[in-house]
Amino acid sequence: MPDIPKQATMRAMQLDRAGMPLRMVERALPAPGPVELLLEISACGICRTDLHVVDGDISGKLPIVPGHEIVGRIVALGDGASGFELGQRVGVPWLGHTCGVCRYCREDAENLCDDPQFTGFTRDGGFASHVVADARYCFAIPGKFADAEAAPLLCAGLIGYRALRMAGDAQKIAFYGFGAAAHILAQIAVWQGREIYAFTSPGDDAAQAFARSLGCCWAGGSDQAPPAELDAAIIFAPVGSLVPVALRAIHKGGKVICAGIHMSDIPTFPYKDLWGERLVRSVANLTRRDGEEFFELAASAPIEIAVRTFPLEQADEALSLLRGGAIQGAAVLLP
Ligand SMILES: [Zn+2]
Ligand SMILES: [Zn+2]
Repeated sequence: MPDIPKQATMRAMQLDRAGMPLRMVERALPAPGPVELLLEISACGICRTDLHVVDGDISGKLPIVPGHEIVGRIVALGDGASGFELGQRVGVPWLGHTCGVCRYCREDAENLCDDPQFTGFTRDGGFASHVVADARYCFAIPGKFADAEAAPLLCAGLIGYRALRMAGDAQKIAFYGFGAAAHILAQIAVWQGREIYAFTSPGDDAAQAFARSLGCCWAGGSDQAPPAELDAAIIFAPVGSLVPVALRAIHKGGKVICAGIHMSDIPTFPYKDLWGERLVRSVANLTRRDGEEFFELAASAPIEIAVRTFPLEQADEALSLLRGGAIQGAAVLLP
């Protein structure tokens, strides 16, 4: 059994029931299992998925400590957590564990595992001072990012990257919704030489100016027609009515990628909008390989992460601002 630090308790913002405010709790500091790490958290990003968890759009384990964009340092580790050492900075993503034996795990699609664990959803996450994570699912983070800037990379960046990869070699891409994920992926895509067309809520001039400042070649409202025929669209906003809108923005054979874990219902639309071998697909979770590829890319791409930080105690205020679309870039909690 590993030694755990003298400070015997931890603080966490816990969700007891969907729709309720989070509650600050103090607990005994957990000991990591044989292949686990105990981390002292330095920053945890707030993802739209956390909003879906606290609002009850998706249901996992309760009570739960949300948060799956965790940056922390190892303060204790199990004997089997090979390749890690005390004091090392690591990142903990959404994918917390997989079964390793189901058909998806065996077929290199662990993101679709039949018996997974997700950080901040089915195992306690990072809205806390400490967290225990399965070492096999943690990532090293490029040194050039400060802790708060690194946090949004763990989901907004990483799962956003999986969505961008699904757009294949598309050159002209629409982004619907310009929050934490889009602001990171726009910079990577522009650096790759692609053209990004940013669609925001109609009239959100600040978000459109923000998108242009990050290299998007065009920004406008989702009620506007794109200025060119597009190869692909990625929908980051949890708004199902954007699916037919995006289908009408892309050319024949183009793809619409839905990047979020939850969306409002998709309204019916004429088959002719899908006709021409247009494709609609979702993006589910991440694989460890996605993370390795993404962090390698993030190390070399020139990315500026825009963050607004909040003390841990203000998690509910930060969630409300995110719900209202008032955060430019990513919200990050500091314990
Ligand atoms: Zn997320
Ligand atoms: Zn599995």
